[in-house]
Amino acid sequence: MGAIPAREVRATAAAPAAAITVDNLTKRYPVGATSLTALDGVSFDVRDRELVAIVGPSGCGKSTLLKILTGLTAPSAGETRVGGRVTTGPRRDIGAVFQAPLLFPWRTVIENVMLPADVQRLDRAASLRRARDLIDLVGLGEFVDRYPNELSGGMQQRVAIARALVHDPAILLMDEPFGALDAMTRERMNLELKRLWRESHKSILFITHSIPEAVFLASRVVVMTPRPGRVADVVEIDLPSDRGLEAMNAPEFGAYVGRIRAHFGAVGGLD
Ligand code: ADP
Repeated sequence: MGAIPAREVRATAAAPAAAITVDNLTKRYPVGATSLTALDGVSFDVRDRELVAIVGPSGCGKSTLLKILTGLTAPSAGETRVGGRVTTGPRRDIGAVFQAPLLFPWRTVIENVMLPADVQRLDRAASLRRARDLIDLVGLGEFVDRYPNELSGGMQQRVAIARALVHDPAILLMDEPFGALDAMTRERMNLELKRLWRESHKSILFITHSIPEAVFLASRVVVMTPRPGRVADVVEIDLPSDRGLEAMNAPEFGAYVGRIRAHFGAVGGLD
């Protein structure tokens, strides 16, 4: 056997690693003398700069998956990799946004956004510049010195998104981030997130109960089964990536929603 030509070696080395790889992940929780299987052989990936959504009913293991990805819980079998590196403990190269914005009421917008930079003792001047840019990016440039109680729910969630990105993480995990917002604010936030995703060049894993939200946002939707959580389907959404809200009225959009909803016909529990 001859040596591999240098060109091929370079091509292999340059192939982009998936931003997130979830590889045959199983999680069992001890319950008395037995155990409860929350995740059972779950595999999928999020490519570099891709936005992937996960939908599944309550109890299908979405929170468990997030805890494993961020390194707060160890899997029973399988592994997760972020940026090609296996997660073995808590890691900081991940930003996370949850359903509640969890802002400190006594800190201003900029002080809230700076929190991860302060905790990680990052360069203060560079972090402040980045925080201001991110606050502009989420449309709150005029509100840097306001306090959370002066902001609407949607604005607070924008602060949480800017905060999740201030330490420039490789990936952004979003767990039902717009679930507590009213329907119209939620639609506006979905549009905003698409813009932010394009402009920030982040890879995003977005968890939601809403099938239309998943189809609107993502290039692929991972459909989970009820407990134990398994991957029932990965649906490639072949719609223009710059789709606006009017895309929701298109027949193809309805067809994707129908295909995903069909998985939950007997279960319900999803929007
Ligand atoms: P989801 O976020 O999709 O609602 P979870 O990951 O919270 O699902 O939970 C998946 C299953 O695992 C549920 O049945 C839940 O009761 C169970 N579970 C979650 N955490 C624990 C735990 N620490 N101990 C025992 N069972 C748990």
